[in-house]
Amino acid sequence: MSRPYNFSAGPAMLPEPVLRQAQEEMLDWNGSGMCVAEMSHRGKEFMSIAEQAERDLRELLALPEGYRVLFLQGGASSQFAMVPMNLSGRTGKADYLNTGSWSKKAIAEAHRFCAVHVAASTQPERFVRAPTQAELALSEEAAYLHYTPNETIEGVEFPYIPETSAPLVADMSSTLLSRPIDVARYGMIYAGAQKNIGPAGLTIVVVREDLLGEPLSGTPTMFDYRVHADSGSMYNTPPTYAWYLAGLVFQWLKDLGGLEGMGEINRRKAEKLYAAIDGSSFYANPVEPASRSWMNVPFTLANPELDADFLAGAKDAGLLTLKGHRSVGGMRASIYNAMPEAGVDALIAFMAEFERTKG
Ligand code: PLP
Repeated sequence: MSRPYNFSAGPAMLPEPVLRQAQEEMLDWNGSGMCVAEMSHRGKEFMSIAEQAERDLRELLALPEGYRVLFLQGGASSQFAMVPMNLSGRTGKADYLNTGSWSKKAIAEAHRFCAVHVAASTQPERFVRAPTQAELALSEEAAYLHYTPNETIEGVEFPYIPETSAPLVADMSSTLLSRPIDVARYGMIYAGAQKNIGPAGLTIVVVREDLLGEPLSGTPTMFDYRVHADSGSMYNTPPTYAWYLAGLVFQWLKDLGGLEGMGEINRRKAEKLYAAIDGSSFYANPVEPASRSWMNVPFTLANPELDADFLAGAKDAGLLTLKGHRSVGGMRASIYNAMPEAGVDALIAFMAEFERTKG
């Protein structure tokens, strides 16, 4: 029997071949007699898994020379503090773009560590679009510019990479690995793993080497990027099993044609779902078309009294977790890498049928 399609915003579906391989290897990884979760992180078996995963991630991202890849814990939310702790010291000031719920949280945390300048905010318009480059009031002295290329809750995605003379820092939690990116444009990228990368508990940081090494005084050892970079992310016990599963996801992505191949599939999935929403007078998405996310598609029903019916019917049809975030209501379909195109087709068919019978 096929599994239902899970549209959760995270933790999200993992690719089925990855889960099957993990299941096969659960009791005995590669003749070691151990489950990966039972291995010493410094033993040769786990070291080979860790190194292969990093090589594959570097290849997928076409990472230029001079970047370090860290496999950390603490989620993207810890990065909201680690970024200013490690990167703001040069001037004590940082620029932030306020484009949705997650950038707002990053800004609130940064205030604890440095002077924050909000260089653009779309909050007065209720976060329905990304600001344009011309709208960014960047400051001269910023040690970095932080932004959220994909706002998971509002479903808003930047259609461009901001131009800035300061190092660019991006919270790519809900977009990393969904399509090719030009890493050289960034000083640092971070992402919680639980959307496109693997299970929760792993946080990926990609940081340019020259930005390491000047943390604010008092920065805890575990919050210092240099410590993790110098120890190959093994300063303490890393999230070994999550790292291993992420490695299987990287191999799955490579087999699909890397980020080019994945990006094409994701483009098709998003385009057909938005077309279905726009082609109906019963469903609506509030985001300006140029800023619509490929990953998170919020939508409302013309009659919110039907929301519960919609969710119950969807569940019966094998379409799970479509309820929108509590802060915005309505529905949200998260269609990350592991959501097959057939899952999006099934959702579109269900939506049409629901509108026909209940709309
Ligand atoms: N940033 C973005 C864009 C997110 O989507 C999320 C989680 O959904 C977070 C940050 C917070 O991530 P974590 O729960 O890993 O701290």
